[in-house]
Amino acid sequence: MPDVLTLGEVMACLRADGQVKLGGTARMSVAGAEANVAIGLTRLGHDVAFVGAVGPDQFGELVRRTLRAEGVGVHALRTDPAPTGIVVFEQRVAGVTRVDYHRQGSAGGRLSVADVENAFAALPAPPRILHITGVTPALGEGPALAVRAAVRLAKAAGARVCLDVNHRGRLWPEDRARRVLTELSAEADLVVASEDELALASAGDDEPGRVRSLLAGAATEVVVKRGAAGATAFTADGALSRPARPVTAVDTIGAGDAFVAGYLSGLLDGLPPAERLARAVTTGAFAVAGHGDWEGLPTRAELPMLDLPDGTAVR
Ligand code: ATP
Repeated sequence: MPDVLTLGEVMACLRADGQVKLGGTARMSVAGAEANVAIGLTRLGHDVAFVGAVGPDQFGELVRRTLRAEGVGVHALRTDPAPTGIVVFEQRVAGVTRVDYHRQGSAGGRLSVADVENAFAALPAPPRILHITGVTPALGEGPALAVRAAVRLAKAAGARVCLDVNHRGRLWPEDRARRVLTELSAEADLVVASEDELALASAGDDEPGRVRSLLAGAATEVVVKRGAAGATAFTADGALSRPARPVTAVDTIGAGDAFVAGYLSGLLDGLPPAERLARAVTTGAFAVAGHGDWEGLPTRAELPMLDLPDGTAVR
């Protein structure tokens, strides 16, 4: 039985060493919000199954091999005739990264209800948690229906649903995003959002009102991510805030996904909210302190590393 089932698009990712238009070299890897969370969780020792599609190309092989190497279950990663999507990262100046997507018509965007139904049917037992993000429904009608089907099947099987709102304004018009994300957040047991995303995905005039509206529905927990200022977890027992871990930020992309992996790991381990939050800000800090979306994420044994004094050699 997987601890977590997640679904979405995983793309090949090219990280240019300089400006793309000038040519030169780029490093190849894979990226995608849900895959980042999946890898974050497997590094911490959890069992994760991934539902998605890649193209019949070498980028698809790269995605499949990477997920498999990281211990993510790829039985439900289908090979589709369409090509694997590509995302290009270009650090334009220190602290500012240009992100260019080539995902129109990609395999990952052809995720369907059948993919989700087949994945659930093939599981020996239902997952404990379904993790979804706002990226997948923004990819098109098919992926949006696939997310709905996943929520329906997860709930019917007694799994908890975690939604990371993860709004991508370039993928869909704001009115549609607002409608779909509000519907999904009303069904999720755990809603994770940045301050802006919370406003998009819930009713209410201010943060306390928005949190109250979600906690009055299906959600038992709402977690607001605040970047370098840390995060706050809201439950029926009140609010708990935790500052970010002080680290030298090298690459902030993927911090939110790393944070979610840490939070879900704490939930799976049965930790109380304060300790879930502590693990989440730790995994978030690992992501910003290293290069790549997921490459720097910690194993369970590495979690205490941020407590070591600067200059420590771990032998
Ligand atoms: P992204 O979309 O880039 O993945 P996000 O907007 O979803 O990020 P953030 O709020 O930026 O998510 O970051 C998530 C968590 O990561 C924060 O709550 C914090 O704990 C940690 N974090 C982010 N930035 C920093 C930083 N500069 N230093 C330390 N920790 C950070």
